[in-house]
Amino acid sequence: MQKGQVTEFRHEAKRVPESEAASRVPCVTILGGGYAGAATAIKLLDAATRPLRIVIVEPRGELGRGAAYSTREAGHLMNGPAKLFSLYPERPEHFAQFLARFAAEWNWRDPLAPDFLNAFAPRAVFGDYVRAELARAVSRAAPLVSLEHVAAEATDLRRRGGRVELGLSSGHALIADHVVLAVGAVPSRPDIPIDPAVAASPRYIADPWTLEAFERIPRTGRVLLLGTGLTMLDALVTLERRGFAGRYTAISRRGLLVHPRREVVPLRDFLAEAPLPTTARGLLRAARQELSRTTHGRPDWQSLVMAIRPHVPALWQRASEAERARFVRHLRPIWETSLHRAPPRSAQLLERGRAEGWFAHRAARIVALEPAADGRIAARVRGRGRADNETLIVDAVVNCTGVAHDWSRAQSPLMASLLATGAVRPGPLAFGIDADWQHAAIGRDGLPAPDLSAIGHPLRGVRWESSTLVELLQQAIQLGNRLTGQLLAADPGRVVAATAG
Ligand SMILES: Cc1cc2nc3c(=O)[nH]c(=O)nc-3n(C[C@H](O)[C@H](O)[C@H](O)COP(=O)(O)OP(=O)(O)OC[C@H]3O[C@@H](n4cnc5c(N)ncnc54)[C@H](O)[C@@H]3O)c2cc1C
Repeated sequence: MQKGQVTEFRHEAKRVPESEAASRVPCVTILGGGYAGAATAIKLLDAATRPLRIVIVEPRGELGRGAAYSTREAGHLMNGPAKLFSLYPERPEHFAQFLARFAAEWNWRDPLAPDFLNAFAPRAVFGDYVRAELARAVSRAAPLVSLEHVAAEATDLRRRGGRVELGLSSGHALIADHVVLAVGAVPSRPDIPIDPAVAASPRYIADPWTLEAFERIPRTGRVLLLGTGLTMLDALVTLERRGFAGRYTAISRRGLLVHPRREVVPLRDFLAEAPLPTTARGLLRAARQELSRTTHGRPDWQSLVMAIRPHVPALWQRASEAERARFVRHLRPIWETSLHRAPPRSAQLLERGRAEGWFAHRAARIVALEPAADGRIAARVRGRGRADNETLIVDAVVNCTGVAHDWSRAQSPLMASLLATGAVRPGPLAFGIDADWQHAAIGRDGLPAPDLSAIGHPLRGVRWESSTLVELLQQAIQLGNRLTGQLLAADPGRVVAATAG
């Protein structure tokens, strides 16, 4: 393999040779090559001081992008400033420097930011950054530490002879010593009856990140957006940048509209001073006390969210199952809109739409989507607190419900098979899967698996917040260190044999 290149194995062309199964070089196979998988690979490449084979199984052609950074729409922006997204915590300016080089080459700038550290980058550029850093990590890796991309979908996992055998969508198999589940979230489908004629119509966009789908809908009229959060904002940006000249109605159950992200000074770490509360009510009390202590005017609520957020995994862990369920039922939408805020430029567009009257949002429930005359769509809608339905005739509908985490409802052969065999079990409240604090998956036997780990979205039920880049980077570093320690120190004889061979 050439230094600095990720070897790409198209699974159609590759039958795993027998000698590979018997190879003495330990092998970590990462399922999923989005940010979580790529960051884990970078940390493994950097941490491995002895031979290690890293394989990423990912059907997408490019590693490092996943669902969020595959978009080619320049108006789809990161939801935080560049200074938060370096792959190297000791060099927080690292991504901003990459962005500055991109900006110089492509004459790009963020008109609202004073410098590149505070700029909100296009998500595609962040994908370029992760890809570039993956290649650089390969080139600086120790001898016989390698990375391969198998362009396939993993479908199942079996344990055989002390190792793990993975089935691929091609019918081929891969052997690994350790498998990391970096498969992201489950695409969300709206939980409403959609007439098959609507579902099949080009005017219904099920996947809001398929840009070509937006080319097929009329340029005028009314578009119904199912959701009022960040995904809805992406759809709005996509349509506006394609010259849509009509009106939008965005609907969600609570009607909570995404907030613009503000640069705020975080509140002091008041939760560190006493034992953490075990209920949402206790947390609210502690927050109110803290706010009443503040003497210099009322602080921005966004600074409160920033102070609570680092404690979320511990708060979640301490809460009872009933308390967690109460939180999900009553407070989840409020917490999510408070935490996942909009890049200022996209938020400005939304504000303009509201001020000029071409964007409106409301709290309502979609009861059904049915065909209407002239290829249009009839949305039966029930307003919050209302007993009767009303009908909205719209020219197109975009599903903006975001992502989900219930593996039993996913259309994924891998997730279904892992649950069916008991290799994993559902996480609390059916969010993702169960795992211990070191990322080891816990199966039906209730024991942490020594050969199966998970990162990111699959840990949603265990940690609650486990999806943003900041969290994923921390997890990738921990996982990289644990796996290199476990695999490269466990059997020095094996490693010596590999080096000699
Ligand atoms: C549109 C969008 C924008 C976002 N913007 C931000 C942001 O600005 N800042 C931020 O901090 N967070 C953001 N997020 C949160 C996001 O979840 C993380 O930033 C991050 O991208 C998650 O990466 P991931 O690798 O865990 O998941 P994903 O990006 O979903 O990657 C998972 C990968 O696994 C692959 N896969 C799935 N099943 C299999 C299988 N069986 N076999 C092989 N491969 C499989 C998929 O093809 C996919 O590429 C955003 C999320 C979305 C959806």
